[in-house]
Amino acid sequence: MIAVKAAVAAGDGTYVIDTIHIQEPVADEVLVRMKAAGICHTDWDSVRWGKPILMGHEGAGVVERVGPQVQGLRPGDQVILNWAIPCYQCFQCMEGNQHICEKNSAVVAGNKVAGGHATLESSTWRGQPTERAFGLGTMAEYTLVREAACVGYTQTMPSASAAIVSCGVMTGYGSVVNAALTKNKA
Ligand SMILES: [Zn+2]
Ligand SMILES: [Zn+2]
Repeated sequence: MIAVKAAVAAGDGTYVIDTIHIQEPVADEVLVRMKAAGICHTDWDSVRWGKPILMGHEGAGVVERVGPQVQGLRPGDQVILNWAIPCYQCFQCMEGNQHICEKNSAVVAGNKVAGGHATLESSTWRGQPTERAFGLGTMAEYTLVREAACVGYTQTMPSASAAIVSCGVMTGYGSVVNAALTKNKA
């Protein structure tokens, strides 16, 4: 178990920078040393969700350690963390539409724990297992995620630029391509 500093939504409308404890990665989990994290308006919303949350859902970092079932990543790999975490087993994932995974995309519409979450019990704040925002919790020195949440990026891309691809760039691109352009065609 390691002790790291993280931004934690306390559940009462406030947040604190505090020590959290993270267990070593098991199964398909990856321990990531964060290099950059973005702040999204949803982070502001999340302080009023009425429960403790390890904050942050966009970020980039370096793989520190991996669980025994991780096949595509090694320590030292640079990764962007993606909150649309595919299960690779449902109909849409099998069709190649991982971005609308039937199992794990519910977190976007509701306020549930993502199916793509790393083991919930493996991150604790003040002794209690604490949910990571969108299964990620990027506003921390280290975070624990599923391998499916990681997307590699090149050594030459600055971490701060890579970090905003996680949510800001994806959201903007999706708005243009899926909403604006589709509307235009109709
Ligand atoms: Zn966001
Ligand atoms: Zn799926």
